[in-house]
Amino acid sequence: MAKETAVLARQADVRPWQEDLYRDLHRHPELSHREHETAAKVADGLRRSGFQVHEGVGGTGVVGVLSTGEGPTVLLRADMDALPVAEATGLPYASTATTTDAAGHQVPVAHACGHDMHVACLLGAADLLASGSGHWQGTLVALFQPAEETGDGAKGMVDDGLGDLIPTPDVAFAQHVLPGPAGQVGTHAGHTLSAADSMRVTLYGRGGHGSMPQATVDPVVLASMIVVRLQTLVSREAPPTETAVLTVGRIQAGTKSNVISDQAVLELNLRTYSDQTRQAMLEGIRRTVRAECQASGCPRDPDFELFDRFPLTDNDAATTERVARAFRGFFGDRAQDLGQQTASEDFSDIPTALGAPYTYWGVGCIDPDTYRKAAEAGRVAQEVPVNHSPAFAPAIQPTLDVGTQALVVAALEWLGP
Ligand code: ZN
Ligand code: ZN
Repeated sequence: MAKETAVLARQADVRPWQEDLYRDLHRHPELSHREHETAAKVADGLRRSGFQVHEGVGGTGVVGVLSTGEGPTVLLRADMDALPVAEATGLPYASTATTTDAAGHQVPVAHACGHDMHVACLLGAADLLASGSGHWQGTLVALFQPAEETGDGAKGMVDDGLGDLIPTPDVAFAQHVLPGPAGQVGTHAGHTLSAADSMRVTLYGRGGHGSMPQATVDPVVLASMIVVRLQTLVSREAPPTETAVLTVGRIQAGTKSNVISDQAVLELNLRTYSDQTRQAMLEGIRRTVRAECQASGCPRDPDFELFDRFPLTDNDAATTERVARAFRGFFGDRAQDLGQQTASEDFSDIPTALGAPYTYWGVGCIDPDTYRKAAEAGRVAQEVPVNHSPAFAPAIQPTLDVGTQALVVAALEWLGP
């Protein structure tokens, strides 16, 4: 019997508590950096499965380590945080939670990105691998990360000494539920998820009366010029074979029709798939903004502030091919190519810091019949709610089973003998 078949033989025993845990996490979502109850449930589960447990890593991060002797170290990662979204799925276990955000506003909270599914899959896989530890040799690291949505949870764990708590991984894996048919898994080698950068630009003009523009430097006109001029960065400066997306998502200036403001703030979002294009675009934005400020005769240089930054997810080719082969062997034609995605992730900050190759795969989570009907009508985009939508509703099964199997199959591909 293949070792994955032996380890997964107990899946029927694990399934009921895994489904209960999923519904419980779904009902009790927590925002980024505040995953206290989620982390406590995770630590509890890992201890019951026999893992050595480190808590409070990078805030609320939890790391379980289980060693069965000489052999490779495999790191499996799940993220734990939810989003300030009002759930509108109508599910019996839908979240009705609210909390106060960092700015003091009352906000709804929901697992609109499916991280509760990632936690339930990884805790189940960890338990199966622990009870089946007679079938493999090496070290398993089950890592539960806070604050993926804010892009700083993975880095927070690294900065808090993650590297000293665990042996250096030989390979690292993470997965994400996506709006494809449940039952499928998708891998992709190379640039898979985009790098993302947000930038806040503050422009300094000179305020005055709307009837006397000659005495002012109008930051509204300046901001407008900048927005138009920035459009040429993608169309004229990025190589046509490279993907780059630049969106000005926010402009803020002024208080009244006849008052010329002394300041304007722009917030931009940039998506790129290579470090070279990323750096060139960021420099192009700074250069364009500075030049427009100079053209307007601003009294002060603009300020630039980068925030919500996500690294490029660049799946190691050899690692991805080995996982893809194992998935094809186990899942048959339900294992597919994921293709390049425009979403972003901070998972790769962990393997990059620890010097480990990694791959990140997708797990379909939409009820297969619902998906098929939408696909046949050519209305997937209109009818299948995506991650971050208030209506995002993963089908518990077969998503939970498949996400658990994918982690076990990939881990055992490395864990000896
Ligand atoms: Zn998300
Ligand atoms: Zn997510």
